[in-house]
Order: sequence, then structure tokens, then C-alpha cells
Amino acid sequence: MRSSPTLVLQLLAIASLARANDADRHLAKRQTTTPPPPAAPATTSPAAAAASGTVVAGVTIPPLDQITLGMPAGPTPVATRTASPGAAAPIASAPPLPNPAWVFEQGQWPTMDKPIDLSFQQDKLASWMKELDGYDIPNIPPTVDGTCVGDPTAAADAEVRGWWTCGGYTRDTDITACPTKYNWGVSFDDGPAPYTPNLLNFLQEKNITATFFVVGSRVISFPDILINEYMAGHEIAVHTWSHPHLTTLSNEQIVAELGWTRLAIQSVLGVTPTTMRPPYGDIDDRVRAISLAMGLIPVIWTRTPAGVSFDTFDWEVAGGIVEGPASYAAFQNILGNASELDSGFLVLQHDLYEITVDLSMGYTIKSALEHNPPFTLQSAGRCNNIPQTNLYVESNQNKSFPYPSPPASLANSSSANSGSSSPEKGKTAQQEASDTSDAQGMRCSWTFVAGMLALAASVLVA
Ligand SMILES: [Zn+2]
Repeated sequence: MRSSPTLVLQLLAIASLARANDADRHLAKRQTTTPPPPAAPATTSPAAAAASGTVVAGVTIPPLDQITLGMPAGPTPVATRTASPGAAAPIASAPPLPNPAWVFEQGQWPTMDKPIDLSFQQDKLASWMKELDGYDIPNIPPTVDGTCVGDPTAAADAEVRGWWTCGGYTRDTDITACPTKYNWGVSFDDGPAPYTPNLLNFLQEKNITATFFVVGSRVISFPDILINEYMAGHEIAVHTWSHPHLTTLSNEQIVAELGWTRLAIQSVLGVTPTTMRPPYGDIDDRVRAISLAMGLIPVIWTRTPAGVSFDTFDWEVAGGIVEGPASYAAFQNILGNASELDSGFLVLQHDLYEITVDLSMGYTIKSALEHNPPFTLQSAGRCNNIPQTNLYVESNQNKSFPYPSPPASLANSSSANSGSSSPEKGKTAQQEASDTSDAQGMRCSWTFVAGMLALAASVLVA
């Protein structure tokens, strides 16, 4: 697929932008040579020792204070598919991997990382729109830009809209935690990406499962990595095609974002996810109802009753907003707050960037594994006791997963950012609120674009 002329052209175009944004520094290779011998006087200074990093699952992880935007890039891991076409699925009653394996075909997919042209393959969009028939999709106007500051009118109406971004409002149908104390629902967003293989090796070494909320544009870019995630027992969920603020989109645009991503995953794996995560957590009752009508249950990340978002802010490091130590300090705060919760929790991390993978492997998950009392780390579905068969349309036998009647479910409750409520259990989900400030939302948008640029550049180098 990477040899596709169209894709290469797209990546070249993105890469040229990356260069215009001084992203050439991403092309530099990290110095991964053997650390200087300790006996040599010139290399025994503390600085030299600190520069050596530590080896985790075969990868040299830099010292925390050296994990910054622009750090020299490490070797891009080889993404060798570990399963043959037609291999048995890791999920009971799920179909085998497609045989022959899916291959990219020019003109068959929307432009990567761009808002989807609704005139593209209109028959597909029309069929997906029919999934909304019989569902009461709230007539909520799209927000201006998915932020509170950008749309004060919508912000003032956030509680009624169930708008998570602006006040942390959730519904019973949202999954936002794990029910059992000290359980960490591990998830990674925005991949699959070039450094995801390092993460997969690490998770296997530590016997940890995770939920990967994947971007459709990345799925068709790195299908072998997606297969490796799935076959290794990790959970695969939808995270849109081009990573927009979903509340800003029309119903048709939302359906297209979810539908094309769903199709990309199904094309590569043979299974269709039943869970999704809205980019930036930007969801309201309209987006919820559309997602549920399409058979996708929203999964967000935890926020404590006091308002602490379980966001590692690893994306801020990748975006050059903060450096490794600040992100790690935020994470330590998460662990401290996690100990105060009656329930377990979901944490936001990303596998799009080498930086965020390094932070996870070398610091955040490592720290959680060494925590006392110990945390139990596993995928979001497992920590919620959701059978793996429920997580894909093809293997799901549970007629109430997703919920059969979204409007009724949505009307059950509204969890505000009150600072006093503990997670309220739904039928199979917990609800909690999380929060993203307007500034964070905007920075995250920029960070995602920057990540795309760096990613394209790294692909060309690889
Ligand atoms: Zn994302």
C-alpha cells in the first residue's frame, strides 16, 4: 500500500508542508549508538550518563528531560505482519482475517486526513445514513469550532446538549471508567503509526492489553500494524477518519467520518468495531445518538469528581508545549487521584508519535506497574467486563450492546461537572465526566496536524 502512487503523493505533499514548518528536525536520526564506556574519563560525567537512556523492550528510551519536540528520531521499527491472510481471529465466532489480504486501491478511499467530501462514493454514505432511520437524532446545531470560547451560545447550553467538551457532561451510554478500583483501562489514540510496533512489543513483554482508537486514514496507511494489534489481543475501536471536532460537523459528515473508519477497519481485519472515541472527547447528544445508531458506543477517559482529567498530556510534549518532566508530573497527579477513586479509570495516551510511545514505555506505564498498591492494566473492554465478542459486529451476540434505544438511554441522566458525583453505573458502562479547556482543544488540533506532518516525513524516511 505504501508504494501506492496516490498515497506517496499525498505523503509528499504533507511532507513538503512539514519542511515548511521546520519539521526537518523530525528527520534526524536519534543517536542510538552504544553509550560511551564508563571507564573513559571523557564520558563519565553525569550528563554523559544521563544521555544514555534506558533500554525498554529493545528500545532506547531517552531520559525524561530529553523527551521533547525535535528530539532526534530513533530507528523506525519494522512493521512485519505477524499473521497470514485467512488466519483465525483471536475473537470467538469472529471471521478469519481477510484472504486475500486487503490492499490499498487508488480512488477507493477519501483523501487522508481531510474532511470527507460528501460527494465521494455517495452510495456508501447513503446506506450509512439509513442506519439513523428510526432513531431520534437531536436537532442540535453544530458548534462553531468544538470549543467553549469559540461558541459561547452552545457553551451556555452545554448541560442540555450533554456537551462533554464544555462542562464535562456525559450520559449513561458513555463508557468513561472501569468499575473496579485500581483497574486502569489502557488506551492509545490516533494510530496505527510508525512507532506503534515498539509499543506492541512492550505491551506483549508486560502482558498488558490495550484499546486502540484508530484513525481511518492511519488504518489504510499501516494495515499490517493494525492486524498485529488485533491479533495480539488488543481491542480495536473507531476514532474517525480525519480527526475533527465531531460537534462541528453536520449529521452527514459525522456519519461519513465514522462510516469510512469503520469500513477501513473491517476491510483490513474482517471485523467492525462497536466502540468509538470522539477526537478531543468532543461529543454531545447529537453525536452520541448518531454514534449509537451506527452501533458505536462512545468511550471517553476519566475525570475525577474534583475535575482532574486523566489525560497524560503526552500530546503536549509531542506538540512542543511542554517537555517530558511536565507531562510526567501530570501523570503522577493522575496516579494520585486514581488512588482516591472508588472505581478504576481510563487514561488518554497516544501512539501517533515516537515521543508519546517513549513516554508510555519508559515512564507512565512503567510507573503504574511499580505502583503500590499495584494497578491492574488491561484494555477498556476487559476492565469493564465486556465480552470480547461484544466489541465487533461480526462476533457480537448481545442485542443490547450497543444500546437498542439511544433516545431513551440518553434521557436517563446527565452527569454534570459538579465535582461531587462519583461515577454512576449504567447497564454496562460507567459515566464520568472529563474536561478539555478551549485552549487545550485548539492546541490539540494543532498538535494533531503537526503529528501528521511528522508522521508523513518519517514514513518517507523509513
Ligand atoms: Zn485523537
